[in-house]
Amino acid sequence: MNKPLVAILSGAGISTDSGIPDYRGPNGLWRKDPEAEKLVTYEYYMGDPEIRRRSWQMRLKNRALLAEPNAAHRAVAELERSGVPVRVITQNVDGLHQLGGVTARKVLELHGTARQVVCTQCHARGPMADALARVEAGEDDPPCLECGGILKSATVMFGERLDPVVLGDALAISKACQVFIAVGSSLQVQPAAGLVGVAADHGARLIIVNAEPTPYDERADEVVREPIGAALPELLRRLQG
Ligand SMILES: [Zn+2]
Repeated sequence: MNKPLVAILSGAGISTDSGIPDYRGPNGLWRKDPEAEKLVTYEYYMGDPEIRRRSWQMRLKNRALLAEPNAAHRAVAELERSGVPVRVITQNVDGLHQLGGVTARKVLELHGTARQVVCTQCHARGPMADALARVEAGEDDPPCLECGGILKSATVMFGERLDPVVLGDALAISKACQVFIAVGSSLQVQPAAGLVGVAADHGARLIIVNAEPTPYDERADEVVREPIGAALPELLRRLQG
C-alpha cells in the first residue's frame, strides 16, 4: 500500500519553543501595537524613509535569525526521512522547518521568509544577514545593490498579496493529502484557515494540535491539546507505521 500524503500546516505555536513570539496572529504583537504594525505595512514602508530606518533597526534587534529548530521541527524532518511523503505549509517566516531538516522545496511559506531580502523594484533576492551587516556598518536603509531600489524583508507585509503560486500549491496539497495536521495555529487567519476546510472537504483525516480551541475543532478527527514539543513527535511517530 502506498504511504499516505501528509500535509502539515504550521503556525506560530510550533516555533515558540525556539523562542520566537507570535508577531502576526490575531493576537500577535504587531496587531496590538499600531506603531509597530506600520513598520511591517507595505504602504508606510514604501512611503517613508524613517519607517524603513526603524524597520531595519527592528530586524537588527529581532534575533529570529539566530533561532534554532526545536523537537517539533525535527520530528517533521524525521517523518520525511522515514519515507512518508510530507508537505509543509507554514504561516511562519522563520525558516526553521528547513533548518530542522525538511527538504526546502517541500516547504511552502505562505508569508514568505525573514531569512531573505527582496528588491521592491527589480525583485532581486539576497540573504537577510548580508543586508543586516550593511545596517550594522551604518546604512540606515540599504538599497538594492543591483538597481538601487528599496529593499525589504522577503516576508509578506500587511497590505501585500500572498504569492499566488505558493497559494495555488498549498490548495492543491490540501485537496490531495490523506492526512492534514494543523499545528500551532489558531486557524483564524486566511488563507491558512480555509485550507483546513478544503482538506476536510476532500476527505483528509484532520488532526489539530493546538493549545487553544480553534474554529475547526468540531470537524477534526483528532484534537490534541498537549504541548507541541512533546505531542507532535509522538503523533508523527505513529504515522511512520
Ligand atoms: Zn533591485
